Amino acid sequence: MGSIPNAVQPYWGVVYAPPTPTPTPTPVPAGLSDYGIELREDGLLWSASEKLALLVGVERVADVFTRFGVLGSTPLLRFKTVMGEWMVWLRLAETQPANSPYAIYYDTAAGECKVHDPIPSVINTLVVACRGFMRQTNTWITHGEVLETAAVHELGHILDIRSGNQLRSFVGDSFMLPDCSVRGDRIMGTSSGTGWLRGQRGWGSAIPLGDDQQSISQFQQNPANSDIEAAADMFLNWVYRRTSDAAPSNLPSDFVPNAPSLAVQVTQLADACTYPSTGAWEGFQNINRTGNPDPTLPGNRRYWWIEGTFSTIFQNKGWQ
Ligand SMILES: [Zn+2]
Repeated sequence: MGSIPNAVQPYWGVVYAPPTPTPTPTPVPAGLSDYGIELREDGLLWSASEKLALLVGVERVADVFTRFGVLGSTPLLRFKTVMGEWMVWLRLAETQPANSPYAIYYDTAAGECKVHDPIPSVINTLVVACRGFMRQTNTWITHGEVLETAAVHELGHILDIRSGNQLRSFVGDSFMLPDCSVRGDRIMGTSSGTGWLRGQRGWGSAIPLGDDQQSISQFQQNPANSDIEAAADMFLNWVYRRTSDAAPSNLPSDFVPNAPSLAVQVTQLADACTYPSTGAWEGFQNINRTGNPDPTLPGNRRYWWIEGTFSTIFQNKGWQ
């Protein structure tokens, strides 16, 4: 239909036709493949509940990336911005089948998942291999399945690798994460004259096995005193804390993960000492190694430091 350029419309009596209703298509829920995740199996199938746990974990991670301002027009694309276009989750039998095409991945310990670098002749992308009956304890029951929190922990390893190992480097660097006491005692890191410790306070679980390790739990999927494993568990708790509770996010603009001095670290993390504690998500709870309330707020400090550290990493990588 033609129109008259610059025609002046009278302001009275103009009745516009109601917009034609656009039929709303029934949305098809996104599946793992939409997130760039391929499942493979070798002598053991991914169970239906494991596939669902993985998808729900992936959706959580995509949700935190949305809240964190990750680049991408949809949650699917934001997930891929950080995690890459393609990864494989490989379910391995407890006992390696004869002539397995995936033999090289059986360096994964039975009962655990392990992230492998791309192997061009076999699977030319990052692989999370999970072998056999997933380990459990008297207090951490898996029924042998890969659970949602395990999946998110493994995605923490993927993020670490995709960051060029920045995450483990920041977590394991020779600095100290101080608590909110006047003295600023160590929560995690190095303290004068001692080696690095992941620490036992502020994780949300408290079943000490010794001076540097706790039992496996929802919040510590791998409690080894390792910067790599602590990094993945910090990611796990950050994802759920940030998507479960009102999470402070007004970091000081000059935040640096490994502040040059304890005084600077205390200053840049000061707000964590007045923030509300974690609520619906009990990881990063302010408890000590035996589970009692810890008024020096180690959980708040863990959350605040990892929030700032992810901010640094995501900006370094151009993910935000
Ligand atoms: Zn791990």
